[in-house]
Amino acid sequence: MKRIVSTILLLALLFATSCGKNPQPGKDAFKVPAYASGEKQGHITYQLLIYSFADSDGDGIGDFNGITSKLDYLDGLGVSAIWLSPAHPADSYHGYDVQDYSRVNPKYGTEADFKAMIDAAHAKGIKIYMDYVLNHTGKGNVWFAEAKKGPSSPKFNWFHISSDPATDIATGKFPMLTGYYANEWHDVTVGEIGYTGRLHFKVDFSGSAKTLTVSPTDAATQNPNTDTSVKMFLWIGEPGKAVRMYSTGTGIYEITLDVDSPWGVLVRTSDTSWDGGTKWGAPKGANVLTMGQPLTLSTDDANDILFGSPTAMKFQGAFGSWMPDLNYGALADAASSGPFQALAETADKWMEMGVDGFRLDAVKHIYSSETGPQNPDFLKLWYERCNASYRATHSSDLYMVGEVWMDADKVAPYYKGLPACFEFDFWERLKWVLNQRTGCYFANDLMGYRQKYAAVRPGAIAATKLTNHDETRAATILNRDLAKLKQAAAFLLTAEGEPYIYQGEELGYWGKDDDDGGKDQLVRTPIVWDTAVHAATRDLDGHFDMTLVTDEISVDAQTKDPESLLRCYYDWTYARNTCPALATGKMSAHAKYNNNNTSDKAVAAWYMTASSGSKALVLHNVGSSAVTLDLQGDKLDSMLVSLGSVSVSGTSVTLGASSSVVFVQ
Ligand code: MG
Repeated sequence: MKRIVSTILLLALLFATSCGKNPQPGKDAFKVPAYASGEKQGHITYQLLIYSFADSDGDGIGDFNGITSKLDYLDGLGVSAIWLSPAHPADSYHGYDVQDYSRVNPKYGTEADFKAMIDAAHAKGIKIYMDYVLNHTGKGNVWFAEAKKGPSSPKFNWFHISSDPATDIATGKFPMLTGYYANEWHDVTVGEIGYTGRLHFKVDFSGSAKTLTVSPTDAATQNPNTDTSVKMFLWIGEPGKAVRMYSTGTGIYEITLDVDSPWGVLVRTSDTSWDGGTKWGAPKGANVLTMGQPLTLSTDDANDILFGSPTAMKFQGAFGSWMPDLNYGALADAASSGPFQALAETADKWMEMGVDGFRLDAVKHIYSSETGPQNPDFLKLWYERCNASYRATHSSDLYMVGEVWMDADKVAPYYKGLPACFEFDFWERLKWVLNQRTGCYFANDLMGYRQKYAAVRPGAIAATKLTNHDETRAATILNRDLAKLKQAAAFLLTAEGEPYIYQGEELGYWGKDDDDGGKDQLVRTPIVWDTAVHAATRDLDGHFDMTLVTDEISVDAQTKDPESLLRCYYDWTYARNTCPALATGKMSAHAKYNNNNTSDKAVAAWYMTASSGSKALVLHNVGSSAVTLDLQGDKLDSMLVSLGSVSVSGTSVTLGASSSVVFVQ
């Protein structure tokens, strides 16, 4: 980062203004900022992926203690809150298929570790926001397991489960489901399954049709066969175990066992190879075993062979067959519905532990009409329920931000329910600004969005961001152009709103989202702290860009490099945190350099003005050549922070290519 500052200006900077100056007297003397209490005014949140942020115990998976150990890093980055990826137990690595909202994922540590992390973060003035998934659960969810027991289960109606979805939707049984996502149904087996008691098993591989016959019996049980020459096993129960059978004739295998299985059994011809061909199960659509009758085995589908009396039904899940959507019923009944109350109770638990807010996933999908009034109304019920709990012990309102992935005008109605929503249009506009080198419309566009939000909720918080864990990385969109990446940071940290920095964005990580190819890990790369061997890579199943996981791009290396993107983030987060105008100000247009001035179209300019009166002039030149701006009427004697090449001469400022500056007014 080069700075051209006149002698007069340097003298002026020695006199304190209302805004702070990053205490970096020289390259060699650089120290990561350590914020004083109350200094972080900028409402900067860091989006953190627990599984790939920092690993404390060497198992290759990020964890709570890892986060605790890196709070100094986040503090230096000026972060006043962390949005954690889902912390609950889940089948997937990313955690959005929650098994149990009342517990933490043991992969990440214990509940005591989680609490210690919260306490340590609070000690540094950093809040903790949990990712909370209201739209759907996971197929392994404890409530879904209860629901699958059948219509007599009190949790059956917590989900949309039906043997005839079209009829049930048509007759109004599922009032949440309208439109496209109402058609996303998946197979589920409903009813009492499993078996506890004594069973005789007979596997017949003597003919072309391989069969399994299971019968209740009073005969004596047998220990598993220890003759390793016999290659026939039963895989029973949960957790499963391989039991070697006895050979009782050519191709015939038998054993009598006491069984306690919540589902059923599989037949295996190997207890060491788990590749295809060694697992024999039920053919598709015929996986219910009838006691005493042979079931023809299949190695093609090899579905679990189920004991009991299950029924084939369907469940609705907009995000696929592993994520059943929750059923809150008609809006009028939603707040008294079972899942609403259960989720609120677990939210209470986390708030009592110290959690400061929630990020709500996929809220436009809760009621399947994305643009209807139901979701904003539902979220209002949810927010007010949670905020009432929070306000019992706090003097301020609960923070809650929704993921409403739509254009700003469609996001605006959601402010009826929530104090904050992510502004996806921020990055949509900014990437166009930077790649088209056209800045003159940016401030006007953003102010237009803000007006729409404020019309619904005065004080609406625009949660600004570049990219998140579901999007192609900013560095890829900007062709890994370091000057553009620095300027993206400068825009994010000088605009009205409450900005989010996504893990790795501050280091310039690149990656193309490949959700369709099942490789969305490519945009969720682990942080490399010092050397690559310490990165939390294990949960990503090899789907990360090895060229990113290098020592050279590490936090250590970039902290030492005065030209690094990370050092740029330190500068601009410090400016935002210590200047009230940047931290909390409202945007307003510059009189000369605005959306009508297309002769200087590379320039984005605006004022930020806080309610205290603190005011700053923000200037960005996104062009590829220098511009000299006539700024009569603006104060140019107090430069807060700059990027690229900036020089002041009288009432003029010359901004080099891809250069930015803030002047305190
Ligand atoms: Mg670990």
